[in-house]
Amino acid sequence: MSEPTSLRSFLSGHLVAGDGAASDLVNPATEEVVARASTRGLDLAGALAYARTVGGPALRALTFAQRGELLKSLSRLLHTHRDELLSLAQANGGNTRGDAKFDVDGGSGTLAAYAELGASLGDARVMLDGEQLAIGRGARYAGQHVWTPRQGVAVHINAFNFPAWGLAEKLACALLAGVPVVSKPATATAHVAARIGELFAESKLLPDGAFSLLAGPVGNLLDHLVNQDVIAFTGSSDTAQTLRRLPCVIEGGVRLNVEADSLNSATLGPDVERGSPTWDLFIADVVREMTQKTGQKCTAIRRVLVPAALADSVVEDLAARLADVKVGDPAHESVTMGPLATRAQLAEVKAGLAELCAEAETISLGEARAPIGAVAGKGFFQSPVLLHARDGGGSAIHGREVFGPVATAIDYDGSAAGAVALTARGGGSLVASVYSDDRAFVEEFLIGGAAHTGRIFVGSAKIAGQATPPGMALPTLLHGGPGRAGGGEELGGTRGMTLYQQRTAIHGDKAILDAALKGPRR
Ligand code: NAP
Repeated sequence: MSEPTSLRSFLSGHLVAGDGAASDLVNPATEEVVARASTRGLDLAGALAYARTVGGPALRALTFAQRGELLKSLSRLLHTHRDELLSLAQANGGNTRGDAKFDVDGGSGTLAAYAELGASLGDARVMLDGEQLAIGRGARYAGQHVWTPRQGVAVHINAFNFPAWGLAEKLACALLAGVPVVSKPATATAHVAARIGELFAESKLLPDGAFSLLAGPVGNLLDHLVNQDVIAFTGSSDTAQTLRRLPCVIEGGVRLNVEADSLNSATLGPDVERGSPTWDLFIADVVREMTQKTGQKCTAIRRVLVPAALADSVVEDLAARLADVKVGDPAHESVTMGPLATRAQLAEVKAGLAELCAEAETISLGEARAPIGAVAGKGFFQSPVLLHARDGGGSAIHGREVFGPVATAIDYDGSAAGAVALTARGGGSLVASVYSDDRAFVEEFLIGGAAHTGRIFVGSAKIAGQATPPGMALPTLLHGGPGRAGGGEELGGTRGMTLYQQRTAIHGDKAILDAALKGPRR
């Protein structure tokens, strides 16, 4: 057994390790300690100041196209070290190779997409918001809204499930906007992110101070945030509530974006026939969303809304597919679903399942089979669980996010209004999906359902062969959702940059404005 790695943070231009007692990072399939992380004794106030005063000016001096070039080089760097990162994701995250690729390639792909966006925004440092407006009676007095970078630091706090993608998607938006970043991965799975931090540090691709990383507990980092700084948080609603109450957020002018939990729904339209391309897409998507990353995805489908007349067929098809899932140590090639990431996650999932099972019929799948390649009694394994609520589901089914390979099929009356009403009971989601080729049904669902979610995927026969899964966040489309999903917005091309920018109305002589304010229009 090799010695656990001591993770290093990258602060004020140096790779450094904390002292004192460290947190253990384990392999969730074997429970072996693979790394240790401590942030004790690190100068966090100094690191924030370094980012603000050294990284900020350096980034703001660059054009969008130049910042895009930086993102391109980071994307390539991640790709060059892909195999190493995939191995770390397997060892510290319990990821199958496919799950690890979803995270790591998602990260490098998002950086590449924002690199292209930077190139398209061109040789400017200001972004114009809408057209110039005539303010007075004559043409000389004009107004223009503009976006410029905030002159602080962006602190990125990420969840345990996407150490690479979570880091990269936030970084891409902030750097392109011209704001330096301090990235803080979740401690339990920080090995991948810490290695990315080392790669970025050693490559010297970025201007000094543009990127820092805190590999371990947050310490007093947030106590030192001031006006112009930004927190972009992804994680649980409980931690989000703590952050919303921070004095620097309530009184200090620090902007906070929250990406929290979500009970995403997938609705099957009443027109869809068993065995049709739309039906098959729906079944494949539900199974993938339940099992990819062992269901530890904020965008995973938790509630499967099915017309009552089709419910038994749906449950039968899902159960048949889920019974094929091979749970075990992802070091074994035959394994298609790894363990949950931590012991605490496993306990949370078991507790949540007990609540859901009290409200629905349980169709357990593979519970009796021993995980493949696991040492008896070791590892945080959970086989897939499908539930069926024939009565529309209770408060736990619509309110408790069980962050594992668990979903509930819920009967509805077959009307778009009925599906929307159940979708809304989730209290706001990151994504919803609707599978139907009936345009009138889809129209009603979209108009009624859009207010309750940040993104809607419409699955239909003609796109079945090319559609991305509903759980995949895309750089060009918004990621975030209302209500319990946190109310935040990330990605979506230039939309994700606005968190790091200030919109200012400027009015005066049209000729002066024309000369001073040149940039791409949003
Ligand atoms: P979590 O326990 O809330 O932790 C998230 C992050 O917050 C970690 O980096 C954690 O650091 C940090 N943190 C914890 N307490 C903090 C505090 N008092 N001040 C500042 N930072 C603090 O969530 P998780 O268990 O990692 O993630 C699972 C949850 O995230 C699920 O509910 C899931 O739905 C949600 N999620 C949402 C999205 C989205 O895009 N909306 C994406 C992924 C996951 P330590 O690890 O060091 O404690």
